[in-house]
Amino acid sequence: MAQSLCAQIGASADWDPWYPERGGRFEMAERICAGCPVRVECLEYGFDDPWGWWGGVSPDARERMRAERRGSGVAA
Ligand code: SF4
Repeated sequence: MAQSLCAQIGASADWDPWYPERGGRFEMAERICAGCPVRVECLEYGFDDPWGWWGGVSPDARERMRAERRGSGVAA
């Protein structure tokens, strides 16, 4: 997605706020994603990924969203 802020900012093996080390924190990713114009598309793309920060939504929050979708009959 050309408009994605993460693509413009970039990440590296030493710095990737969207996939921090185990037990790491997501604050930087949360702040960057909050201003991204393609959050909705990003969330749908990464919805089923059990790791990482997609569309400004944490892995735990996406798991809750998947459970809600399953409960409502919407395909997850
Ligand atoms: S919302 Fe998605 S595309 Fe946008 S900066 Fe965050 S991870 Fe990247």
